[in-house]
Formats: sequence, structure tokens, C-alpha cells
Amino acid sequence: MLALSRFVIKNVITRIEALYQGMKTISEGNFGHRIPIRRRDEIGRLAISFNEMTSRLQSSYATLHEEVLQRRQAEENLRILNTELEDRVRARTQDLAAANQQLRMEIEERRLAETRVEAANRAKSDFLANMSHEIRTPMNGILGMTELILLTTTEPKTRTHLGMIKQSGHALLDIINDILDLSKIEAGKTELENQMFRPRDVVASTVDLLGVTARGKGLRLAFRLDDRVPKHTIGDEGRLRQILTNIIGNAVKFTEQGSVEVSVTLAENGSSPSPDTAHLLFSIRDTGIGIPGDKLESIFESFSQVGESAHVKYGGTGLGLTISKQLVEMMGGRIWVESEPGAGSTFFFTVQLGLAHEQTKAPGTVLTALAPSVSPLRILLAEDDKISRIYAIAILEQRGHSVTAVGTGRKDLEVLKDEHFDLVLMDVRMPEMNGEEATRRIRAGEAGDPQVPIVALTAYALKGDRERFLDVGMDDYLSKPINNDELDHLLERVALRRDTADPA
Ligand code: ADP
Repeated sequence: MLALSRFVIKNVITRIEALYQGMKTISEGNFGHRIPIRRRDEIGRLAISFNEMTSRLQSSYATLHEEVLQRRQAEENLRILNTELEDRVRARTQDLAAANQQLRMEIEERRLAETRVEAANRAKSDFLANMSHEIRTPMNGILGMTELILLTTTEPKTRTHLGMIKQSGHALLDIINDILDLSKIEAGKTELENQMFRPRDVVASTVDLLGVTARGKGLRLAFRLDDRVPKHTIGDEGRLRQILTNIIGNAVKFTEQGSVEVSVTLAENGSSPSPDTAHLLFSIRDTGIGIPGDKLESIFESFSQVGESAHVKYGGTGLGLTISKQLVEMMGGRIWVESEPGAGSTFFFTVQLGLAHEQTKAPGTVLTALAPSVSPLRILLAEDDKISRIYAIAILEQRGHSVTAVGTGRKDLEVLKDEHFDLVLMDVRMPEMNGEEATRRIRAGEAGDPQVPIVALTAYALKGDRERFLDVGMDDYLSKPINNDELDHLLERVALRRDTADPA
């Protein structure tokens, strides 16, 4: 009995030992291990339950393991992606840095190019101002001397030849003026004036002027203004006249028979930007040679003329329409042409002008209507060019004025200290002291009457020069070659001013 008990106990201990070993093996991570089942008693059932739990643990572990593996794989993928992304960002950053560098270089290049263009433009303007001066001074001599000889010559053939010299000289001046004008406009240095004027007067006077040539060719030249065209407008009268002179002048030039008709009306779609603006349409119709269809656009480009022989037959520079186009655009309008070769052309252009309600003319323009008789003036002439001096003295003395002439600004000041004059005609470019400096000093009271009228007499004829001279204190401006009418009007104004200030 005791022996049996010992056997049973030993057996139980052995099985519990086996159970313990199995659990230990499993707890060490060996989930495949199973505890052998010898009997289905309590210990056997314990072992069975334990084996079942181990089975579940094994499958959970396998799932967990699988998930861990997947997570690792995902992490690995993520790491690779991150590395790729970083590589790409690095490459992109390098690209951007290169693009930035390229952009910086391009900006720098453009800035340099702009500086060069500005410098070139300045050089061009300076060159034009100088060229204008250099050409105008000898032209002043040629035209002035021709004028003087004409005064004393009666022999008809010589007078005809002198007349031709004069005509050619003026034609040359017109060309120079056109080139200078266009350069100024293209350099953006032209500013439009804003003064009141009557559109009818501008059209009428331009037609009047060109009427002489038209009549000489047997052409009928007429104009018509729509009643709706405002009586008074505000804008640049001189520039509008310039456009009309170019286009009507062309119409007369390129028409051998028939007529030229100018008409002014309100632009059809004349939607003016404001109630204070008038949108006008000008049309100039001729019965002349016409323009081929493929040239209708290009004639508005610089130096463009239709046909090789046009220049020889009709003269001109091919700049008139280019200048007109630029001016029209500056006035907020456009220009175009319709034409049929052999039948004639119609040029159209629109402009926007301000509306004026006053009925009186601007002060100043009245003076031009004064009687030409001018009481003698004492004039101080500062002019270093000998020929220009001889000519100026001759035309001033011929008008009954007394003239004292000097060759530099410094001499001018010296003479003014001792003598009284009614007018100083001041050349601008002179040795020792130029006319601008001399004017500043006179106005500062360094020589005689600081109020004495000073008028620039100069070959600087670009737009804008006049304003420069007025800024230093000059009262007016006469460009060389001297235009007789302009001189007469100027002398009238000076005499009027003197006589009103000192009626005695
Ligand atoms: P220019 O008259 O000094 O040559 P423009 O610029 O005024 O220069 O005109 C350019 C060209 O356009 C002229 O040379 C001429 O060939 C053509 N043209 C201009 N107006 C007319 C017109 N009314 N009839 C025929 N051709 C014209």
C-alpha cells in the first residue's frame, strides 16, 4: 500500500515535473512545444488547457510577428522614401539656387543694358542738340547773307538764284527740324501743351497757308467743320497744326488735279473719357495718286516712302507721317488711311481735346495782331559768330534800331554796367561766359538794370530749350536762322512793354 502510494506520488510528481518543463520551454519562447498528454485526469486536462493556450499564444505570436515584420518593412519603405525625398529636395534646391543665380545674372544684364540704352539716348540727345546748333549757325549765315544780298540786288537772274538758295536752305532746315523732332518724341522728351484754342482757327489757318501751293497747282482746297465740333478746346494747338500741315501738305503734294477736302467732326464712337473731353475726327480726302494696299501701314514708319522714285519726284523725308502718328497717339487718338491707287486717299485721325468754356483768347496772343510799326530800340547784341553778328546788326539797323554788339557774355555785362538798353539779344553758346550765366548775373543785379528784357538768340532749337532759357531768367527766345516775322513780333512786344512802362 505504501509502495503504491509512493508510486502514485512519484508518478504525479513526474508528470508535474514534465508540466513544469513544458511551461519553462514555452516561457523561453518555444511556442511549438507541446506537453505530452498521458492521461485525461486533472493533470492531463491541465496539460491539454495549457497546450491549447500555447497554441493560441503561438498563433497570436505568429500574427504579431507578421505585423512587426510588416511594420518594419513599412518603416524601411518610409526611410527609403524619406531619403529619396531628401535627395529630390536637395536636387530641387540646387536647381532653384541655379535658377536664382541665373535670374540674378539676367536682372543685372538687363540693368546694364538699360543703363547703356539710357547713356546712348543721352548721347543721342546731346549729339542732336550739338548737331542742331552746328548746322543752324552756318545756315543762319547762309540764309542771312542771302537775305542781305537780296536787299541790294535788283538784277532778276541773280535774285532768282538767291531765291533758290533761300528755298534750299529752308528745305534743309525743315529736314533737320523733322529729324530732331522725331528723335525728341521717340526719346519721350516731348510734352504737349495745354492751352485754349479754336479748332476752326487751326484748320482755317493751315488750309490758308497751304492754299497758296494748292492754287498754284490748280487744286481746290476746302474745309468743313461739323456744327457739333466745340468752338473752344484745350490742347496743343501747335502740334495739332503740325499734324494737319503734314497731312494736308501731303495731300496737296501727291495730287495733280482735282481737290483736297478737309473735314472735322465728332468721332463716331466718340465716347469721351470724361464730359470735359471732346473726341474729334479729322479726315483729309484727296484725288491724288493713291497708295497701294500693301503700303497702307508702312507709310507710318520712319523714312518710309511709296516707290523708289517718289523721293526724287516729290521730295520729303518720309518722316512727316511718323511724327504725326506719334503726336496723334500722344493726344489719345489714332491715325489710319484708306486709299485706292489712281483715285485718291483719305487720311483719318482722331484726337482727344479738353473742352473750354471761355470765349476769350488767352492773353499774349493779342500782341501778334499789333501794328508792325515799332519805335526805335536800343539793343545790345551778344553774339560771338562774326557772320551771324553782321547779319543781325544789318536786319536790326534796317528796322531803325541802334545796335551795340559784343562777342562774349563778360563783355555784355561790362557794357550793361555803363549804358542803358531796351533789349539784350543774347547768344547762348559764347566764349568766356555763356549767355545763361550772363543772364543769371544780370538778373542778380551785377550789371545795370536787372529787369532789362533779355531774349535768347540761339541755334539751340530743340523743344525744351526755350523752357531752359526762360528758367534762367530770359524773357523770350528767337531761334537761328532768324525768322523775320518772329523777329518783328518780338520787337513789337519789347517796344510795347517799354512804352507801357515808360510812356514818356
Ligand atoms: P514725306 O511726304 O516727307 O515723304 P510722309 O511720312 O509724310 O513723308 O509720307 C510718307 C509717304 O507716304 C510719302 O512719301 C508718300 O509715298 C505716301 N503718302 C503720304 N500721303 C500721301 C497721299 N496723300 N497720297 C499719296 N501718297 C501719300
